[in-house]
This record gives sequence, C-alpha cells and structure tokens, in this order.
Amino acid sequence: MLEGMDTINESYDVVVVGGGPAGLNGALVLARSRRSVLVVDAGHPRNAPAHAVHGLFAREGTPPAELLARGRDEVTSYGGTVVDGELVGAQRVGEDLEVRLADGRTTRARRLLVTSGLVDVLPDVPGLPERWGRDVLHCPYCHGWEVQDQAIGVLAVNHMVVHQALLFRQLTDDLTVFLHRSTLEPEDAETLQALGIRLVDGEVTGLTVEDDRLTGVRLADGTVVARDAVVVATSMRANAAFLDGIGLRAVAHPSGVGEHVPADPTGRTEVPGVWVAGNVTDLTAQVGASAAAGALAGAGLNGDLALEDARRAVDRLRRA
Ligand SMILES: Cc1cc2nc3c(=O)[nH]c(=O)nc-3n(C[C@H](O)[C@H](O)[C@H](O)COP(=O)(O)OP(=O)(O)OC[C@H]3O[C@@H](n4cnc5c(N)ncnc54)[C@H](O)[C@@H]3O)c2cc1C
Repeated sequence: MLEGMDTINESYDVVVVGGGPAGLNGALVLARSRRSVLVVDAGHPRNAPAHAVHGLFAREGTPPAELLARGRDEVTSYGGTVVDGELVGAQRVGEDLEVRLADGRTTRARRLLVTSGLVDVLPDVPGLPERWGRDVLHCPYCHGWEVQDQAIGVLAVNHMVVHQALLFRQLTDDLTVFLHRSTLEPEDAETLQALGIRLVDGEVTGLTVEDDRLTGVRLADGTVVARDAVVVATSMRANAAFLDGIGLRAVAHPSGVGEHVPADPTGRTEVPGVWVAGNVTDLTAQVGASAAAGALAGAGLNGDLALEDARRAVDRLRRA
C-alpha cells in the first residue's frame, strides 16, 4: 500500500463507484443493513461549479460540497468506508467482481453499484466552459429562480431549445433565443413569438464578460446582444468506460440528449450483480431523484444479497 492512502479490504459485499448523491444514499442504505460497503469517489460531482443545491427539500440552498461531506459522514458512521480514488477497471472473477483503482489497488465485491454520474459536453462556443454553472446554465430548477427577471438568452443547439425557452419564459419577460446554426419549425417559431420571445439569427461566436460577469452574446457579424445569463443544452455522457471489462457500456439515450447505461426501474442492469443509479443511467435526474434512485438500488442490492445468502445457507445445510 502507498503511504498516506486509506486502507481498503480484500473484499466487500458491495463496491459503490462514485460518491455523489446516488452513491452515498445507496451506501447509506447498504451500511444500515449491515452490508460491508466501500465507496470509491473520484471527487468531481457534476454540480461542483454551482454555489448551492436548489430544489431539494429540507436542504434547499446547501453548497454541494457540504451536502456530500455530510453524506460521507453518515455512511462512515454506520461502518461504511469512503475513499478518494478513481475506478479504472472491473472484471468478473468467479462469482465476484474485481475492481481496479487508478493507483493500482484492487478489491473484490459480490455486487457493484455504479453511480459515476455523467459529463456535460458543452456546445462548441468559446467562453462557455469558463462560465458554466455560474451564468451559463442548463436547468431552470437548479438556477432559474436566481436569474429571474434578468435578460436571458437561450442558445439553440438541439431540439431542447423550445422546451428550455418555454421554461425560462416562466422566469423572465426578457428572453432571447439565439438560433446559432439551427432553424426552427415554423410552428415553434410562432409559439415563441406569441410568448414575446425574441428570435435572433446568426452564429454565436462568443460571450462578453466584464468584472467576472456575463454581459452579452457575440454574433459572427460582431453584434453583441446584452444578456445576463445564457441557457445551453449539453450532450450528457455517462461515465462508464471503466465497465468495459464486464461488458457494460453506455448507449444512446432514446430522448437523443446523450448516452446512458440502461437499467430496470430498480437500477438492475443486464450484467448480473451490477446496479446503476443517478445520472449514469437517468441523465436528467436531479439531486433528490439521484439520491432516491441510489437508495432504491441499495435496497435492491441488499434484497438480492439476502436471497443469495439464503441459497448458500440451504446448500450448506444440505451438504452437512
Ligand atoms: C452546474 C450544475 C448545477 C446543478 N444544480 C443542481 C441543483 O441546484 N439542484 C439539483 O437537484 N440538481 C442540480 N444539478 C444536477 C446534479 O448535479 C445531479 O443531479 C447530481 O449530481 C447527480 O448525482 P449522481 O450521484 O448521479 O452523480 P454526481 O453527483 O456527478 O457524482 C458522481 C461521482 O462519481 C465520481 N466518479 C466518476 N467516475 C468515477 C470513477 N471511475 N471512479 C470513482 N468515482 C468516479 C465523480 O467524480 C463524482 O464524484 C446541477 C447540475 C449542474 C451541471
């Protein structure tokens, strides 16, 4: 073992990949059922750029890092282990799953709960990454209240543009849709215009920023349209490359908004012993929904393990 590293055991009932809301709630349920559980977390939760978590009852406005620190404490208080690290591979070894961390450590698990989240791939417009989660936004429920009545722009990048425009129109009278490289169906354009939403033609080539605040959207012809915030749709890609060794892959989501790992409603995947929860499978789940899915998967895993324990006990009895 390398100096300064947390000790991990040779095996666990469940290894949880990812320590966001889904992973920590799953681990909490498992630890409280007296399952040995290891959470391996790379420490890059999706909402890290945001100041606060919104739309979450009883924890409204809590900074993301504070929420996760509290979740980690809850898991460890029931005997679970949480370590910082990145899982880079998994393979089946007998009935178990062996997982490999980037630092070379390995451990085995009877079951895997994958809650590794997703990566938001931003549209290819200069300046968006620097403002992401601050005044370049994607979600009316996460930051809509905070930008209400401001001058908001919606960048058209895919079919989500009309949906996003309708939802942000609820929050401001001053809404502009930048058509960028796309065109709208005539009935969509009519709907937006009927709602008093301005449509601006022309490719968007960047943003203007003053004193670390977004001030406008720049078009290819040099025009700058003053805006306080810009809404974009991202392409959402599940973090799942490390599952290749056990035959689980991200596939195109039927909605066309990205790639996810499919599962049944409890989080059980097509690969025996592997469950998923949160954004890795449900691309649009927010913090509350991700945590709930993690809890459901944790309960499903515990039930599955209990059945296996019972089968093994019967086998032992019959052999005795
Ligand atoms: C800018 C922004 C603001 C948002 N604001 C809100 C909000 O206000 N309210 C709300 O409800 N939702 C909000 N969301 C959505 C919220 O981020 C997600 O719903 C939530 O993070 C999903 O939880 P999760 O556990 O599935 O994934 P995550 O929270 O992303 O956690 C996944 C964890 O797995 C780790 N991981 C990934 N790969 C590996 C690996 N190979 N090995 C080990 N660990 C790994 C990651 O580093 C990360 O720590 C926001 C999203 C964004 C982008």
